[in-house]
Amino acid sequence: MALEIVRVPVLSDNYVWLVHEPMSGETMVVDPAVAPPVLEKAEELGWKISQIWNTHWHPDHTGGNAEIKEVTGCTITGPAAEAERIPTLDVQVKGGDAVRLGEVTAHVIHVPAHTAGHIAFHFADEKAAFVGDTLFAMGCGRLFEGTAEQMFNNMRALEALGDETDIYCAHEYTLSNGRFALTVEPDNTALAQRMEEVVVLRDRGEPTVPTTIALEKATNPFMRARSVAELAARRAAKDAA
Ligand code: ZN
Ligand code: FE
Repeated sequence: MALEIVRVPVLSDNYVWLVHEPMSGETMVVDPAVAPPVLEKAEELGWKISQIWNTHWHPDHTGGNAEIKEVTGCTITGPAAEAERIPTLDVQVKGGDAVRLGEVTAHVIHVPAHTAGHIAFHFADEKAAFVGDTLFAMGCGRLFEGTAEQMFNNMRALEALGDETDIYCAHEYTLSNGRFALTVEPDNTALAQRMEEVVVLRDRGEPTVPTTIALEKATNPFMRARSVAELAARRAAKDAA
């Protein structure tokens, strides 16, 4: 792995990711909800933040942009389609674009539904993807600005990244997602086993992400929905739960 990735838990359940590329010394932050704990963690690691990448405009993903930029002079990259809602953006990208962190390249994937311009960042060689609020451990993002059909297509696009891909999502929602997933598929043994592990981890206050595409294919009721209608029904049931 040509990247070092460190989790910074902030607010009640957000994960901000610090991504360090040791060859160039560049450090990038994914979706800083807030600035101080991110700046502190980078300082502690001796990493100089040179970039921020945003997946979507929600304040719990962009709230730290301005302060981190003020302190570090970093460059902020995010979705062109949401540029008006992220006034701190320096670089606007869209699906298919390549973005560089030092010596490594990520590709931008357009994954609309949670927000209309939501993007994900995929480091193919490193088998890692930063998916914001699109895919969670055993869950998916709420459909605030898009449709179940779009989310169904997003699941196909992320699935196509391959089983071994590590998925870095932006929230620790795993326990509640898993409880819902068990109501959908009570006989799924992979799911039941995963939930046992998740309960133990959360009891100890430990994180349950990153996840992997393989694990989500086996246990995620939204990735496992066989049709748009099935995904829509599951999303509506989860929203009402
Ligand atoms: Zn969001
Ligand atoms: Fe969020």
